[in-house]
Amino acid sequence: MTEEFLRSSARVAEWIASYRQRMEDFPVLARVEPGETAARLPASPPEAGEGIDEILADLDRIIVPGLTHWNHPGFLAYFSSSSTDPGVLAEFISAALNVNAMLWRTSPAATELEERMVEWIRQFVRLPPAFQGVIQDTASSSSFTALVAARERAVPGVRHRGLVGGEGLEACTLYLSDEAHSSLDKAAMAAGLGLDNVHRVGCDGYFRLDPARLEKALEEDLERGCRPVMVCATIGTTSSTSVDPVAQVAEICRRYGVWLHVDAAYAGPAASLTEKEAEFAGWERADSIVLNPHKWLVTPIDCSVLLYRDPEAFSASLALTPEYLQSHDDAGNLMDIGLAMGRRFRALKLWFVFRSYGAQGLRRMLRRHMELADVFAGWLQEDERFELAAPVPFSTVCFRGNHPTRGTADGLNRRLLDAVNSRGPVFLSATELAGRYTLRLAVGSAHVTEQAVRRAYDLLSEEYDKIRVQDWDAGQG
Ligand code: PLP
Repeated sequence: MTEEFLRSSARVAEWIASYRQRMEDFPVLARVEPGETAARLPASPPEAGEGIDEILADLDRIIVPGLTHWNHPGFLAYFSSSSTDPGVLAEFISAALNVNAMLWRTSPAATELEERMVEWIRQFVRLPPAFQGVIQDTASSSSFTALVAARERAVPGVRHRGLVGGEGLEACTLYLSDEAHSSLDKAAMAAGLGLDNVHRVGCDGYFRLDPARLEKALEEDLERGCRPVMVCATIGTTSSTSVDPVAQVAEICRRYGVWLHVDAAYAGPAASLTEKEAEFAGWERADSIVLNPHKWLVTPIDCSVLLYRDPEAFSASLALTPEYLQSHDDAGNLMDIGLAMGRRFRALKLWFVFRSYGAQGLRRMLRRHMELADVFAGWLQEDERFELAAPVPFSTVCFRGNHPTRGTADGLNRRLLDAVNSRGPVFLSATELAGRYTLRLAVGSAHVTEQAVRRAYDLLSEEYDKIRVQDWDAGQG
């Protein structure tokens, strides 16, 4: 058994090394049609077990062609999620240990390592010691958990009575900017607030929540008899990475007694940099904060840190221990915070990442990513074919191609993105900003290089010129 394991794991390690070497030969974005991978898979499980060599051969033959390669240096879409050796090795060990940290006793070390990793993150992003937290799978789960805690605080006893049919319960409301992530809408659906009670507050010209409009919305809703449950401010919105004025929002939340949640899923790690202090001003006043090491801190997906000041508010909302899980010798049980009972050993990969890079190494990488984004933004600014569509506070650049006569036409930008992505070496994504189709280049992977960013610019230029020659010179532009 041990010999077989050593042989198989050596084969897997070789496979990973070879995949990495071949990485740049693959198009970043998978080139398969829907159903193509499924068609290559046997309809039923094999009757007899197979060896690692056969399985790896099919990994290459069936699975790899259907992958979009998130660890490719040219992956510049969405927000990146990249893994390097420390995270990969920790995931390997985590699967071998297969511990479930639902209760302290079901793996004391997993619980205590998780608590310590949250503390390391807290120090890394320079939040005050009042914060503690847990590691969840995604920011969506973290924000949902925070919303349920805020709901219990706003409507004590709601965990028993529920929101529907309770005595004298008004609508419970959630406040966000137009640019906040859809995971908050989903949280409102799942927590029973309902999408109709999510109040999307407008933004200023730089895609930041407008505090005056937030206050007006709160006033109007209170007058209507609503119960405001939570305000969510975002540091690093998904489309443009804009930063809501958190200090002002925190002050409004204090005055109205409303829970403040800060979604820093992407940008959170940048709080480790003193030069980014202004972007995070006021976030230390939040009741809860989410940031994802699996986005901009080279930790393999899934790893989202939920930080909060008042653990009681969380256990009051979701802690529930049936008799078969009762024990008297337990310290704090992580399953008390959040919906999931079973919990993966996520802290291990964060521990490996911190120890391998060191806080200094991580900060160096974040700075490098922001430099690369600035370099790319600089090329666009010097090029009349393009324009920036939003400020660049972190490592993501929003931009558009300019049509010579029609300004930044949506059609042109759609074609440009499709053309660039179909070339293979890079993958960019798009969004809508101020009602206009906008391209995005997001730096944030451990594997990104200046060459990859340059390649993106060169391909954008080439494809732009091709469209110009095809259409505009033919008078159809
Ligand atoms: N919040 C923000 C600002 C995001 O950009 C994203 C995803 O990109 C999320 C939340 C959701 O993250 P997750 O996939 O971890 O749920």
